[in-house]
Amino acid sequence: MSNRCLYKRHIPSVKSTGKGDEEAYLFVFCDNMLLVHLEEGSPGVPLTKECKLDITPIRKLYLGTLMGEPCYAVEGAADSQCPEGLEFKELRSLYGLVEEDIYALAGRAKQILLWDQNHQFCGRCGTKTKTLAAERAKVCPQCGLTRYPHISPVVIAAILKGEQILIVHSDQYGKMASLIAGFVEAGETLEEAMQREIMEEVDIKVKNIRYFSSQSWPYPDCLMIGFIAEYDGGELASDGVEVSYAGWFDVQNLQMLELPPKATLGREIIDCYIKTY
Ligand SMILES: [Zn+2]
Repeated sequence: MSNRCLYKRHIPSVKSTGKGDEEAYLFVFCDNMLLVHLEEGSPGVPLTKECKLDITPIRKLYLGTLMGEPCYAVEGAADSQCPEGLEFKELRSLYGLVEEDIYALAGRAKQILLWDQNHQFCGRCGTKTKTLAAERAKVCPQCGLTRYPHISPVVIAAILKGEQILIVHSDQYGKMASLIAGFVEAGETLEEAMQREIMEEVDIKVKNIRYFSSQSWPYPDCLMIGFIAEYDGGELASDGVEVSYAGWFDVQNLQMLELPPKATLGREIIDCYIKTY
């Protein structure tokens, strides 16, 4: 089971005790690319002094402390120069290259920057919003509408039939094997969303839906919630829209497929299935 929920070195907070110009770890994004150094033994993200001359910040938001030092999410202007010794990297490509808690914190930084960018004005009346000091929220001084960072829940499940697992292909992901997944709709429980997605995409019923694990997926603002469920009847039939192929696989023939990348919850669930059978 994942231990990704354990932020061992990051203590989250929205209220900085500094003035914003103190020495700190910076999660700097320019055009969705994160500024990093990749030397062995480093935390992966630079300190203020390493970025000062080259990065022009558009927005800077306090994240709490990392290893006892303040840390900030920073959106750099597109014309920012890459400081010497550092690189801009697409966040997904850094999985496994930086430590897991740094990768997770970078995802948090990316989502908070996006929230700040998208909520400068009230969505109801158009007034310029104010950022609250005590919590991660923006409030409209005119009508009082309050907006928190947006999270879109997505359910994903391994469906087991005896010792076989349901694998689907989607034209969207080429040859990659996937599990059934979909966004939760307003008013649904997670279990209802899972049952609906499974029925819509492959036309079968499931039972004994059990929670597996969850994962923040900041592309751009998803929370993946993983389940394991048991087949409970019906003939497999792909919907031809989101799922182009669906089939039952055992461990032996599963190994021949192109599996989802290691960074994903889908892959974690499949790897757990492989270990079990
Ligand atoms: Zn308003």
